[in-house]
Amino acid sequence: MSVQVCARCQTTTRQPVVVAIEHSASAGAGTAYACPDCAPTFPRQRDPFDASLLAHHRPAERGR
Ligand SMILES: [Zn+2]
Repeated sequence: MSVQVCARCQTTTRQPVVVAIEHSASAGAGTAYACPDCAPTFPRQRDPFDASLLAHHRPAERGR
C-alpha cells in the first residue's frame, strides 16, 4: 500500500483513510486521505468503502 499524506495534519501515513472524493477532479487524483487518527474528525461523506452502511440498510438474511 502506498504512503499518503494526511489532509489534516500533513503527516505521512502508511494506513491512509479516504475521507473525501472529488468527482470533478481533472488532475487525476481527487482523493483526500487522512491518517487513522484524523479520519474520525472529518465529516462523513459517501464512502464506497464503508461496508457498515450497506450492512445497516441490508435486510437480514434468514437462512437460505
Ligand atoms: Zn492526520
